[in-house]
Amino acid sequence: MAPPSLASVHVMDHPLVDHKLSILRDRKTPPHQFRHTLHELSWLLAYPAFAALRVANIEIETPLEPMTARGMQAPYPCLVSILRAGNGLIDGFSQVCPEASVGHLGLYRDHDTMVPVSYYTSLPTDIAKRQVILGDPMLATGGSAAMAASKLREMGVRDIVFACLVAAPEGIAAFQDAHPDIAIITAALDRELNDKCYILPGLGDAGDRIYGTN
Ligand code: URA
Repeated sequence: MAPPSLASVHVMDHPLVDHKLSILRDRKTPPHQFRHTLHELSWLLAYPAFAALRVANIEIETPLEPMTARGMQAPYPCLVSILRAGNGLIDGFSQVCPEASVGHLGLYRDHDTMVPVSYYTSLPTDIAKRQVILGDPMLATGGSAAMAASKLREMGVRDIVFACLVAAPEGIAAFQDAHPDIAIITAALDRELNDKCYILPGLGDAGDRIYGTN
């Protein structure tokens, strides 16, 4: 596997992002505050994640005069959540881009083999025509994200960005190996994976932290 190339990786560098991440990383943060902070952080992450959003000239009238503005036109983007933790991130993106459709891909990591298994797919039928932002808070081994991106590619999607909160170097390398042409947007790049494939220092199991299931 090739070493990670940081050329197509955007790691956010902003004190407000650092502050919100510190709240998410803190084990004492309760689920309601975790969810709220995750939404706030996803609004900030939306800025680079939507940087290549397609907009076109549209003719509008301000209260003072006509003008050519820049606006989105159908088909609108599709925000794809890798269940279940992806929902926390994609909910925030959907708040800043409410015109976007929301798709879901259910993938779980087999605890023995660590290999991702697909159990649910719900995507718009015209997804091939749309820009896609694929989201999962944690890019750990990269297996689920790469599998999700492959599924989108098989459906003909050309324009994909992958967004996460915390990435491990191993996950970036694996994802780039499978999809060298997909940019990764992350709030943080952490040190490494532990022997259970959790990111260190990380924030624990994102799904459990969001939904208070552990
Ligand atoms: N998934 C998580 O939720 N956390 C990790 O650290 C790794 C994978």
